[in-house]
Amino acid sequence: MIQLLLLHHKKLSGLYIHIPFCRKACNYCDFHFSTQLHSLNRMVKGLAKELKLRSSTPKSSIDTIYFGGGTPSILADQSLNILMETIKTYYNVSTSAEVTLEANPDDIDSDKAKSWKRAGINRLSIGIQTFNDKILKILNRSHSADQALKSIEWVRQAGFHNISADLMFALPDASDILLNTDLKILMNLDLPHLSIYGLTIEDKTVFGNWKIQNKRAFPSDADYERNYRIVHEVLIQNQYEHYEISSFAKNKHFSRHNSSYWLQNPYLGIGPGAHSFDGENRGHNISNNQIYLKQMDIGHAQLIIEPLSLTEKMNEYIMTRLRTHFGLDFEQFEEKFHRDIRNDHLKFIDQICLEGLAFLEKNKLKLTFAGFLISDEICARLFYPIS
Ligand code: SF4
Repeated sequence: MIQLLLLHHKKLSGLYIHIPFCRKACNYCDFHFSTQLHSLNRMVKGLAKELKLRSSTPKSSIDTIYFGGGTPSILADQSLNILMETIKTYYNVSTSAEVTLEANPDDIDSDKAKSWKRAGINRLSIGIQTFNDKILKILNRSHSADQALKSIEWVRQAGFHNISADLMFALPDASDILLNTDLKILMNLDLPHLSIYGLTIEDKTVFGNWKIQNKRAFPSDADYERNYRIVHEVLIQNQYEHYEISSFAKNKHFSRHNSSYWLQNPYLGIGPGAHSFDGENRGHNISNNQIYLKQMDIGHAQLIIEPLSLTEKMNEYIMTRLRTHFGLDFEQFEEKFHRDIRNDHLKFIDQICLEGLAFLEKNKLKLTFAGFLISDEICARLFYPIS
């Protein structure tokens, strides 16, 4: 079902701009991107056009902007400026907005970091993944460990303080010693925010094919769990708050943009494959650069709507809240959905609290780290059946 999603007149909270290009395809990645960089300039024009097409009068208020990808750091300075100016022209951007750009270390140097600062970026999310060059090669990343370390220096010198880094665990050929080395280097950098993910093998990726063909051994579920536990323990010892399954923050430097997703605030996604949520329904743009560009050429921004039933909304609330420190708010759940979830699952909630998987705080159910480890199973038990 394809139709226009009328996000107009809604108060938006976040704006996501997808930059669907990468220099190389990482062996594990199933995001939407292309390595055909020749249409980059045309894409910037297309994104600017979609920003204009989806704007409204009065202008929607924006509290967070996130350039994600793909690889947004691939953008030329002028292209980023065009997008930032377009956003400021058609949206009411809060003076205290969080403006994040995802960056790969090999794109970062002193001049680049300074130009991002001038463009109005105030938060960087840097894709480090590991500090081990051998593993970076296995992942087919385009940077080296040295470049990763240097990139942090450059962005700090340019005046960035709000910096996040991505790290991965449960990597092929990686040992616990290697993970501990990565974490030691990362702790020395003392960044305010970290996103740390376990590798998952997705279909239609190089790793997915290697797995099917038995070309390489990948870490087992037990390795994954042991690695995740190491990550949690090291970060807690270093004063990070484990505030979401994969996210850690020091001194409350939570990602405002991602927190807004988890709180189910409305957001607008711009670019091929980008998702939007208007508070009621979800929608996404087509994940095909050429078709997307043709749509922009004729000025017809189509969203593929994913209507959510009431039960799907309830289950989404359960899942997004339990993955974060916000927790499942019993009162809010009843206000929104007219169901007393605590009463509906009284026995199970008592049981997971007794087993140390969850705890109750101010009428909210929150998962402990042991609960994070089996959050999918816990959520599945709390979900309401979809008829
Ligand atoms: S740089 Fe990021 S988006 Fe691009 S292929 Fe690698 S993991 Fe995927």
